[in-house]
Amino acid sequence: MKVGINGYGTIGKRVADAIRAQPDMEVVGVAKTRPNFEAQSAVEKGYDLYAAVEERRHLFGEAGIDIAGDVADLVAASDVVVDACPSGVGAENVDLYREHDTPAILQGGEDADAVDASFNARANFGAVADADLVRVVSCNTTGLSRLVAPLREAYGIEKVRATLVRRGGDPDQTGRGPINDILPDPVELPSHHGPDVETIFPDLAIDTLGLKVPATLMHTHSVNVTLESRPTVAEVRDLLEGERRTFVIPDWLGLDGAGAIKELAQDAGRPRADVWENCIWGESITVEGDDLYLFQAIHQESDVVPENVDAIRAMTGLASQEESTRRTDEALGLDAPLAPSGAVPEAAADD
Ligand code: NAD
Repeated sequence: MKVGINGYGTIGKRVADAIRAQPDMEVVGVAKTRPNFEAQSAVEKGYDLYAAVEERRHLFGEAGIDIAGDVADLVAASDVVVDACPSGVGAENVDLYREHDTPAILQGGEDADAVDASFNARANFGAVADADLVRVVSCNTTGLSRLVAPLREAYGIEKVRATLVRRGGDPDQTGRGPINDILPDPVELPSHHGPDVETIFPDLAIDTLGLKVPATLMHTHSVNVTLESRPTVAEVRDLLEGERRTFVIPDWLGLDGAGAIKELAQDAGRPRADVWENCIWGESITVEGDDLYLFQAIHQESDVVPENVDAIRAMTGLASQEESTRRTDEALGLDAPLAPSGAVPEAAADD
């Protein structure tokens, strides 16, 4: 499967590396609007670089960076395009993909009605078969969908209520904020995240509230799910530990927040210290009657990356859900847990 990446920023560069790691996929090239450190790094990694904006193509030559062609050439050479342009630009690119009859995957910053179907590998893999335009839902919606899917299958869900404490910007987004404040954002309820989760689970009852805080590392979700049955805490824990892209943080690890989680990812040798899986604090899992509560941290820059890889196989019929997610996770190293789940290992207990 020949894949082109249009938009090589936070998401695009991670998706390119993840696709290159897959045994059944190849990166044809990446399109950028201007020469900068990311363009330079794409060249060093051996990706063919295409000019996203024809009138700015000369800038690459002036910076000494070779260009393989324009973005239309990239689309023509690709079996599938992953569009990782800034919010709104993906929808503007749809005509280009249609002109070349090239299926495309847009990102969560685009509206759901810009595509044929929205996608989460755990929750609705089969729903995008043969779709020409698919949207991998946002980082927050991906995190919530991975949690909702197993809970709904195992226990039934009456209602989800989630408060999303969102990072103000990514580490390189120096112009974003707040710098020293805590903002209800959006101040109206519910936030747009609930309706976005409903693009994956159309009949789910979910209300979400959003806040923005001066942080760049991860989002944190405070989640309350009213279930249709009453599992024990141990049963919920077992269920979530058995999932592919959820990491239930064992109590003894001492991961008290996003900083420590990112440090662990760095120590574990994860590329860019990425945390592809939902990080659920085991100690926070609480059941009161039919209400389940927990906290989870979501790494906004990377949780959608394996989802983009699976979306390619899902829409082209390259593999089943089980086969695709296994292949993606093995190729990325996501199948190696960040740390062992469960009880304190002997060595740590003796320290
Ligand atoms: P980004 O700004 O880091 O990267 C976008 C890249 O696209 C930049 O390199 C920019 O120069 C380039 N670009 C701009 N216009 C272009 C054009 N016309 N053609 C080709 N390239 C163009 O943005 P991002 O954070 O990677 O976000 C991309 C998409 O992913 C958005 O829809 C966003 O909502 C979504 N998303 C972002 C995050 C996140 O936390 N960063 C998480 C999940 C989903």
